[in-house]
Amino acid sequence: MSRKMLIDGEQCHQAEAEEHYDFDLFVIGAGSGGVRASRFSASHGAKVGICELPFDPISSEVVGGIGGTCVIRGCVPKKILVYGASFGPELQDARSFGWDVNEKVDFDWKKLLQKKTDEIVRLNGIYKRLLTNSGVKMYEGEGKIVGPHEVEVTQLDGTKICYSAKHILIATGSRAVIPDIPGKEFGITSDEALSLEELPKRVVVLGGGYIAVEFASIWNGMGAKVDLCFRRELPLRGFDDEMRAVVARNLEARGINMHPRTNLTELIKTENGIKVITDHGEELLADAVLFATGRAPNSKRLNLNAVGVEVDKHGAVKVDEYSRTTVPSIWAIGDVTNRMNLTPVALMEGSYFANTVFGGEPTKPDYNFVPYAVFCIPPLSVVGQSEEEAVEKAKGDILVYTSSFNPMKNTISGRQEKTVMKLVVDGDTQKVLGASMCGPDAPEIMQGIAVALKCGATKKQFDSTVGIHPSAAEEFVTMRSITRRIEAGSKLKTNL
Ligand code: NDP
Repeated sequence: MSRKMLIDGEQCHQAEAEEHYDFDLFVIGAGSGGVRASRFSASHGAKVGICELPFDPISSEVVGGIGGTCVIRGCVPKKILVYGASFGPELQDARSFGWDVNEKVDFDWKKLLQKKTDEIVRLNGIYKRLLTNSGVKMYEGEGKIVGPHEVEVTQLDGTKICYSAKHILIATGSRAVIPDIPGKEFGITSDEALSLEELPKRVVVLGGGYIAVEFASIWNGMGAKVDLCFRRELPLRGFDDEMRAVVARNLEARGINMHPRTNLTELIKTENGIKVITDHGEELLADAVLFATGRAPNSKRLNLNAVGVEVDKHGAVKVDEYSRTTVPSIWAIGDVTNRMNLTPVALMEGSYFANTVFGGEPTKPDYNFVPYAVFCIPPLSVVGQSEEEAVEKAKGDILVYTSSFNPMKNTISGRQEKTVMKLVVDGDTQKVLGASMCGPDAPEIMQGIAVALKCGATKKQFDSTVGIHPSAAEEFVTMRSITRRIEAGSKLKTNL
């Protein structure tokens, strides 16, 4: 007997016996984590169903799309725009390398936007095929948990169908939050920013996190006037303070108007654009105002309370080390758990969930030495501990090695922008605890450094590695002298 039934207003019934479940696994949310978990579970022989909201570049409670935030309105389209924005300064630099770029150079936003949309539609199709080819059954609609083994899917036409599963996986991700200030309806989030009809000429960005600095760089590279307002002394709270200062300096040098210790109090629509009032009483005029003020887990409409799945005060689903919620048959991965909100981490959590539940190999996600990248221009990338974190945790001395240099390309182009690299080393064990870089190609370089740190590399092993010449990356293996030693027990001033 199938447990699937139309449930016109009535609850679906608890599945009685394991063999009566429609699926071994039903996943709610087909973003990076959900798709990975589904495919890998299916490869272990599980019968898998997955539901996802209909496709739309701008998300809401009722639209989303297979591929999720990263593919449709996050990492992928953002990186396409970062590439697009990088050509402007590159064209300027090209002149010094002998390229005649004398004619007026135009940037066609609509053309790039169309290319970006084509690409995310293509990727949406690829993700669907990946699921189909893995034997995963897809359903379009909103999933809601109605029992420890039951998911009700509401389709576009309002029809509700209930599916039973031995295990349920919540992988619904997160969505942008906006501050509650007068005129907030005139602001946009990163969803809309990736799909604007017109390229704004003047932009105000609120926030000092990843999204804020990335979009500030994108719009700045495309020629807009950008005002970046953030409430700390420096952007990117949580990153190494020295590297935060490098990013701030670079953004400013590239022409972004930095407004530290600044919040917004009101947005007013006027004939000349949106009037933005800051808490210093300053007035800025903008064509677009981006709220990049964080994201919240998508957990509200899942009926979690009723079935006993606990969430924290931010709405993040509480899970154990194996991603199991407070209900044994229900699991959660990715941003909805608010552990480490990065696509590759959701992929790891999805793979390890499949190993644990269907692969016969219980595996805890490992959050050590996860590398990060912030795609501002030039980018920042880090792995391991910041100087502040290392000093906080250290039992002995911490050694800091830094290198600040003019990249070879800049010696010809004349661009005044230093690349900065940093290694944080345990004075006793000589282990490299953390590495940071702000400069061109930092994320490409840091991926390799992350492997070394994950393997427990020491400073001596870095030193004995032969460099690639001429490259910026070789600086990581040629930092000979200690920039500073922080003695055990010292405290650094953090969280500027
Ligand atoms: P972040 O959490 O990184 O930053 C939020 C920023 O908004 C902080 O500067 C915070 O200030 C500020 N803020 C929060 N609330 C308010 C408020 N009420 N008024 C004024 N400022 C406020 O969030 P993002 O939105 O930038 O990104 C969300 C997540 O998405 C990131 O944490 C990251 O995990 C992920 N992401 C990853 C990317 C990547 O890997 N390259 C790219 C984009 C996103 P304060 O520091 O003072 O709290």
